[in-house]
Amino acid sequence: MTQTRLYGTAAASVVIAALALTAPAFIDRLSANAQDTAAASGGSVDTASAVAAADWSDNVTITVDEAANTFRFQSDGVPTHGFAAQYLVPNNPNEQPFAGKPSSAFTVVNSAEFFKQSDVDTTITTRPIYVDDVTNTSLGRIGVALSGAQIFNDYENMERSVVALDDQVIHDHVPFLDQCNGHTLADGTNYHYHGVPVCITDGLDSDAAHSVMIGVLEDGFPVYGNHGQGGAIVTNADLDACSGHFGVTPEFPGGIYHYHLTADEAPYMIDCYHGEIENFGPQGGMGPDFAAIAETLGVSTDDLRQALGDSMPPDFDAAAMTLGINADDLRAAMPGPPQ
Ligand SMILES: [Zn+2]
Ligand SMILES: [Zn+2]
Repeated sequence: MTQTRLYGTAAASVVIAALALTAPAFIDRLSANAQDTAAASGGSVDTASAVAAADWSDNVTITVDEAANTFRFQSDGVPTHGFAAQYLVPNNPNEQPFAGKPSSAFTVVNSAEFFKQSDVDTTITTRPIYVDDVTNTSLGRIGVALSGAQIFNDYENMERSVVALDDQVIHDHVPFLDQCNGHTLADGTNYHYHGVPVCITDGLDSDAAHSVMIGVLEDGFPVYGNHGQGGAIVTNADLDACSGHFGVTPEFPGGIYHYHLTADEAPYMIDCYHGEIENFGPQGGMGPDFAAIAETLGVSTDDLRQALGDSMPPDFDAAAMTLGINADDLRAAMPGPPQ
């Protein structure tokens, strides 16, 4: 009996060890499959139908351009899930951290008057390409959400030292970040999230299934809340340095690289892109919209990007000569340096 039990125990240990091995092996296999699928489809998974089918709010217009392999997201920037009646707006928006500062360091604003419509218009690839070299996300828009609002990264400052969600401050029940983990910029525009947008995920996610796609990052890869396979809570330990992983999701049963927003500890958001990033300028998502600038100048987007090159600031005279346009026109069309 003792021997049997011992054997049983040993067998159980073997099973547990096997399970422990299976989980990462399964993920590796999934990852390989996703990459095979990607290779078979010309380098990337096509997100167009998932994007078109997503549950975008009424204030969002999605236009899929199948020829260009892009989709255009347009919204009024104001989330349809509603917001807090009042917010704390720091009197000195650049003097982080805010937590611990007295109420005199803030102005209480009524969102009904304070919130300003701020149109969001961005064109994102539907053929995202996973690359090994990651690119840090910058302040400003890094992605768009179903609610019509924007996804920002974790930080409130250029130095990437103050995590907004960890810098929460509430005085007399008035918060800096609302219950959706969002707020506007200090001028009332550009409502954005710094944590899981629970006002979106609460209506879509269940405890028994992988999260539903809640938006797309500027590199084209989809973004999810913090439920993984079977509904298990995803934490940073399950994800790579950019808060992503390969795997199957409800929209991509063949597997795709995708990001998860998490709720346990920073990073809560996506602090680097693992995808090739097209729409990237000095301020990340808020950088130049090359497609729009190219259209203004009457040149192709690719030619424009190639002419400007990687140097910062670009050599406008050389670029203008390459493009056969006036250098002053080019300077005028490009946005100014980050503030
Ligand atoms: Zn913010
Ligand atoms: Zn996942």
